[in-house]
Amino acid sequence: MAMCAEMTDDRIFRNARIDSGGPLVDFCVAGGLFTRISPGLDNDSGCEEIDLGARVVLPAFVESHIHLDKAFLEEREPNLSGTLEDAISITLALKKSVTKQDVMERAERALRMCIRHGATWFRAQVEVDPIVGLKGVEVALSLKEKYAGLADFQLVVFPQEGIEQQPGTEELMREAMRMGGDLVGGIPYNDLDAERHLDIVFGMAEAFGCGLDFHLDFADDPRVRNIDSVAARTVAAGLQGRVAVGHLTSPGAMARDDAARIIEKILEAGISVLPLPATDLFLGGRGEEPPRFRSLAPVKELLGAGVNVAISSNNIRNAFTPSGRGDLLEIGLLLAHALHMSGAAERAVVPGLFTTNAAKALGVEEGYGLRSGCAADFVVLDSVNFDDVLIDQPEKRFVVKGGRIVVENVSETTWREME
Ligand SMILES: [Zn+2]
Repeated sequence: MAMCAEMTDDRIFRNARIDSGGPLVDFCVAGGLFTRISPGLDNDSGCEEIDLGARVVLPAFVESHIHLDKAFLEEREPNLSGTLEDAISITLALKKSVTKQDVMERAERALRMCIRHGATWFRAQVEVDPIVGLKGVEVALSLKEKYAGLADFQLVVFPQEGIEQQPGTEELMREAMRMGGDLVGGIPYNDLDAERHLDIVFGMAEAFGCGLDFHLDFADDPRVRNIDSVAARTVAAGLQGRVAVGHLTSPGAMARDDAARIIEKILEAGISVLPLPATDLFLGGRGEEPPRFRSLAPVKELLGAGVNVAISSNNIRNAFTPSGRGDLLEIGLLLAHALHMSGAAERAVVPGLFTTNAAKALGVEEGYGLRSGCAADFVVLDSVNFDDVLIDQPEKRFVVKGGRIVVENVSETTWREME
């Protein structure tokens, strides 16, 4: 029988359901890592035991594309037209008056919501421009330090307002990269010239030796296809596996053959595609006349071709997305509805989109997952039914980071039946 390694903070979590039909397993953790995962582990060292009661366990949720710095701005001004143009202009106007303290309070509130719902890995989009300056970067770096041990961060230096159309942005981005940015961000659809925007960000990524993370082809118009250039540039720069693109709704509006050609290029370039369902469905598909497009990347076709697809919350309660509570299980259900998924077998793919696939999009898959040697980061759902977690939407009973329970949620119902 396997034993726990003899370290002071060893712990055994017993009776976890990690798949649909297999036996319940125990996890042994030491030094923040899984050391053993197997049914019926011995406890010869007498370490602490926690019984998970046959509950479903998923690897830690990953918010692979999230804007903490502009969360909760809906309270100040909602986006009543629901267009992308108004989302950008409303947020730009609000940004002029934010203080660092204000950004910190909203970002931390959003972060705690996400952790409470099981996300402990984050790729945060941090806005950098002459309007907000480097306040967002300073806040993100503070949160990264303050929440070390609770959350792992990657920071994308993101030029939301464009680069050439907001002079001074490029220098601020370089400064943000020097301060601790992990990836260069890009948004060619909100700048003077998409190709020049791509020249700048790919050049910056080369200078800093890092990957790129884009907001790309967020349109209902099938003629919008900057992905062609991004894929070609990714291959030319040898950045396969280190580029992610968020939204990518326009291929969902393309003819099947046309989309298939685009998907082939995405696959060759090793680009991860990150649909952002709450935002895409809120801002997209608002054509003047029916039929209106259900604005979303062609997820089933992308997955079928072998592209890495992940989903994330993107925004929480602002002009881009009026709702959100940092709950990826909920975002997963939204995606399942929007994609017309039905039956347990078809829904089974969804949790992977905010766990293992999302970790791959972040390039952290080697140390992530329910395997020996990986970080002991996981979510214990208050359900024993593995196949139905998406439609049951169970409470996240425990959020575990580095082998420690960092959040416990309790949901109770009392029936008071009629006499
Ligand atoms: Zn975004």
